[in-house]
Amino acid sequence: MSWGYAANNGPDKWADNFPIANGPRQSPIDIVPGEASYDAGLKALNLKYDPSTCLDILNNGHSFQVTFVDDNDSSTLTDGPISGIYRLKQFHFHWGASDDKGSEHTVAGTKYPAELHLVHWNTKYASFGEAASQPDGLAVVGVFLQIGAENANLQKVLDAFDVIKAKGKQTSFADFDPATLLPGCLDYWTYDGSLTTPPLLESVTWIVCKEPVSVSAEQMAKFRSLLFSAEGEAECCMVDNYRPPQPLKGRAVRASFK
Ligand SMILES: [Zn+2]
Repeated sequence: MSWGYAANNGPDKWADNFPIANGPRQSPIDIVPGEASYDAGLKALNLKYDPSTCLDILNNGHSFQVTFVDDNDSSTLTDGPISGIYRLKQFHFHWGASDDKGSEHTVAGTKYPAELHLVHWNTKYASFGEAASQPDGLAVVGVFLQIGAENANLQKVLDAFDVIKAKGKQTSFADFDPATLLPGCLDYWTYDGSLTTPPLLESVTWIVCKEPVSVSAEQMAKFRSLLFSAEGEAECCMVDNYRPPQPLKGRAVRASFK
């Protein structure tokens, strides 16, 4: 059986096939603000995204993702806690069956209804695939979503859901600027972690934004209209596609802000 989020193939079972699930730098984690140390050496994030590099949107059966052209330095992340140039590969979300859960990272135990992940790879390696297994291979920017006003910048993404409802569905998605999904304040926490889905590789510099962005309850409901299942299979709503917090195991969490 392949991995998923159900009782018989969910996060508690991932270690059976991916023993790194119990490794020293797994993600997500519970971020305890009072235990994060302010690091004056952390630079501001420098996100430079070109909307024309946006390619398509895909239901991969675990989440949906928006993919970007990454054969040049048009859409990049530099500075922040990283050195060198990291290219944007894709963004995706994790969310809950109800508004009281859904984020992967938590803040002093607080769960948000959803979390956005913008995935970048280090161009000192030849490709995303090569970078994904290196300790400094990936940098993921995490953004919490919190129930509030409708998020107009998210609407174009949600409007594509009817076409990609089932697993394996894909459609073109052009001219979208993911910077519009970021909060106004880019203060962040950072720590060394992993992919939060199998193969759970310990290659991610996590950059989790302190400030959430808003999403309306109606928009959150739309996320839950996607399906884990493929066309022709019994319909199974795509919800609770998050991994719970993992042990910190002595790692430092640094803050870019006081
Ligand atoms: Zn993710």
